Amino acid sequence: MKESYDNKDTLITLYKEGSDSYTKISFPIRYGVYSEIRTRDAVLHFNLNHEIVRAVGRTRQWIHPNEWLKHTRGDDWVYYSNGGYAGVFEATGEYYLPNLQYPTNAIIGGKPFKEPAVKRLTQGWHQRLLGIRQSVNGVPSPVGRFLDQACANTPEILGQRARQLFEISGGRVTVMPPDARHVDYDIIPLTISQGCLYKCRFCRIKTDLPFALKTKDEITEQILALKQLYNKDIANYNSVFLGEHDALAAGRELIVFAAEQSLALLGLDRANLGGSNLFLFGSVDSLLNADPDLFDRLNRLFSHTYINIGLESADQETLDKLGKPITVAQVEQTFKTIQTINDKYPNIEITCNFIMDESLPKGHYPSFLRLVRENFSHAKPKGTVYLSPLAINQPSREMVFKFNHLKCLSRLPTFLYIIQRL
Ligand code: SF4
Repeated sequence: MKESYDNKDTLITLYKEGSDSYTKISFPIRYGVYSEIRTRDAVLHFNLNHEIVRAVGRTRQWIHPNEWLKHTRGDDWVYYSNGGYAGVFEATGEYYLPNLQYPTNAIIGGKPFKEPAVKRLTQGWHQRLLGIRQSVNGVPSPVGRFLDQACANTPEILGQRARQLFEISGGRVTVMPPDARHVDYDIIPLTISQGCLYKCRFCRIKTDLPFALKTKDEITEQILALKQLYNKDIANYNSVFLGEHDALAAGRELIVFAAEQSLALLGLDRANLGGSNLFLFGSVDSLLNADPDLFDRLNRLFSHTYINIGLESADQETLDKLGKPITVAQVEQTFKTIQTINDKYPNIEITCNFIMDESLPKGHYPSFLRLVRENFSHAKPKGTVYLSPLAINQPSREMVFKFNHLKCLSRLPTFLYIIQRL
């Protein structure tokens, strides 16, 4: 049902159809079905629950007409900047760079949240919406209902829904897998295990709790609660993230159960977006010990499964310095296994992370290049390697230069991993 309203100042269009597939393209693209309010100085987008999801300024003070603000399920605002296109795409694999309001390890990007035009929207969108509601007369009733509901979804309510989401998942997703960029980070978080196997010294996101599995009943309960919380907007999601930090260690049975239940109960493969995607983190041990049948099953279940493994370094001195309790031999064996799985399964991509920092032992980068360059006679399109800067809030030209140098030499797709929460 399409409904709209137009006076000379305000155009409201309900249920606009955006793209039905995630695409990498150099102009702004909107996904799924959403409603739009367009005024002389701003565009606001709302999801199928009439919660705000995007805002774009239309005044001369707005930084760039192709840039926008996204409001996330975790109640964050993220500013997408084009950063001059070429540099951003080379560094991240995406045409737009997410700029975050909280400390992160990005080494590129600006400070858009300091711009008055950006602040006016993040802080004043709801006041603006109330003004629009009062100023429009004689709107068709579906448009009136939409406006009432959108006004009722106040910043406080959206904050409460974010907290409900964290409660359902047993905590906030403090870091999303880097591969979630392929679906613009629009993932439904489903916790099937908590904690991780290693408790590495360098890691800022680890919990002290021992690695523990959720039961099947707990997983089903979570899925049903998520379905209720996402409500009508569930139709705009085709991707699930199995948390927490090492869901691969949960084993074949629990992973396949969670995957099948999410497809069936959340309808991921019947969404407004084509295909279905599964994301999870794994570790050296969980990958080396994984039942091969797991990959056969996942390859059939989802259009794409992305498993991200933290290798960090192929240099023992660096691993020891990081306090990562694994050996170089394990890292090399895991890297080999990753290539084998990537070659065998068309619908599965295993990606891995290595760290970057100015203070690492001198063996770190040569050992990295031995893996990602010397192991291959030619460039491969699959098996992305992410470089994750250790330092937080320290944009650095030297690190960008270092990254570009490593990327040029790598024979695997190589990008920066920008730590982003849900
Ligand atoms: S890097 Fe991964 S394995 Fe190590 S402590 Fe952090 S979450 Fe755990």
